[in-house]
Amino acid sequence: QVVTRFAPSPTGYLHIGGARTALFNWLYAKANGGKMLLRIEDTDRERSTDAAIDAIVAGLDWMGLSYDGDPISQHSRVERHRQVVDQLLADGNAYRCYCTPDELTEMREKARAEKRAPRYDGTWRDRDPSEAPAGVKPAIRLKAPQQGETILEDQVQGTVRFPNKDLDDMIIMRSDGNPTYNLAVVVDDHDMGVTVIMRGDDHLTNAARQSLVYKAMGWDIPTMAHIPLIHGPDGAKLSKRHGALGVEAYRDMGYLPEAMRNYLVRLGWAHGDDEVFSTEQMIEWFGFDGMNKAAARFDFKKLENINGIHMRNADDNALYEQFIALLPFVEDGQSMLDLIDDAKKKQIMMAMPSVKERAKTLLDLKAGLAFLFDTRPLALEEKAAKLLSDDARAMLGDLIPRFEQLTDWTIDSTDALVRTFAEEKELKLGKVAQPLRAALTGRSTSPGIFDVLLVLGKDESIARLKDQIS
Ligand code: GLU
Repeated sequence: QVVTRFAPSPTGYLHIGGARTALFNWLYAKANGGKMLLRIEDTDRERSTDAAIDAIVAGLDWMGLSYDGDPISQHSRVERHRQVVDQLLADGNAYRCYCTPDELTEMREKARAEKRAPRYDGTWRDRDPSEAPAGVKPAIRLKAPQQGETILEDQVQGTVRFPNKDLDDMIIMRSDGNPTYNLAVVVDDHDMGVTVIMRGDDHLTNAARQSLVYKAMGWDIPTMAHIPLIHGPDGAKLSKRHGALGVEAYRDMGYLPEAMRNYLVRLGWAHGDDEVFSTEQMIEWFGFDGMNKAAARFDFKKLENINGIHMRNADDNALYEQFIALLPFVEDGQSMLDLIDDAKKKQIMMAMPSVKERAKTLLDLKAGLAFLFDTRPLALEEKAAKLLSDDARAMLGDLIPRFEQLTDWTIDSTDALVRTFAEEKELKLGKVAQPLRAALTGRSTSPGIFDVLLVLGKDESIARLKDQIS
């Protein structure tokens, strides 16, 4: 069975790169009838926080990326990590290194002076532990091969070769008794039965080092896929301005989870020229085949377009639920939720088809529906106030009695009425419709004017018009 995992370090929110990694692991598991596990890499006790764990779990939940079983804390497994270190020592695959911090600094400085990457010189690899200086607590190092190369077969990067002289004897347990990251990851992935490791390609060198631990323990190396990092539109490291934000920031900007999944899957993966995917299609088509080695570029415009498409495709009721879920987050102070009763909901649902047509985000949707939440007399936006000149107000004054006489209040009937009125007055339709919109919504943009009339209903429409002519 396929087992993938998402292994975030809980030092902050679930950022966009992490969400993409989680998505790939989730899709791969779904595509293969497997499982995705969640491992919280909380061994850095200083930087790991419970708040960050909550934010990651909430972020995954919002993205719709479910994991199997409970999250596994890496820190809680420290005894097991120590056990493996002991076994590596017992088998002669690891050794105690008694170098003092000063000696290690000296080694690093020497490397810097010779302009080469710092590496451990192997001092204690073959030295007799009886020569250990008194009072120095040893670190434990892996006895890595010194000649030849370590070769990784990566599903995205292809065959990657690392000269073993560059992979020195890494520390697997610090002198304070804490196992290191590269040791813990291997032990956990092995014990959790992980068969596929998918993560950012910034972990490629770690992967080479980790493969040495697998070999020393005689364990199978999982399938690996190191995916390209997400860069900004300028090709540089993703900055906050260019999208390096937590997923909750995208939620608050009004993006839909399904659109986020669609957009993110394309950062590093492709299925022909397709751009718009339902989640079912992604699951059906996802695999290593479509993965790309080149760094992906984050592009807000494209995300917005994809989001607009998913909004238009969305079921109105589902959209309403997401809109409602967003409200408490974006209103400062009062929750708009308090303003929605059954009658208001009915109005919203009536307006939805027309409003969602023009909306790229849920915030646009909110703006498009705002005229339903305003109270009379409406405060006019500047452009709307300009549209309501004295002439325009007089014109609306003539229009009101016609509306009052209209018994059948539909899109077609108001449409016909306004057109006839405009013809009689020898005005272009827009010259009637624009002031009408301004008076009915307080705005210069809104859904189609006949939709607005319908949704507001006869009484409220006439009352709003009268407010502007008195
Ligand atoms: N905790 C690592 C990170 O957040 C991921 C390690 C892994 O996937 O193996 O970058």
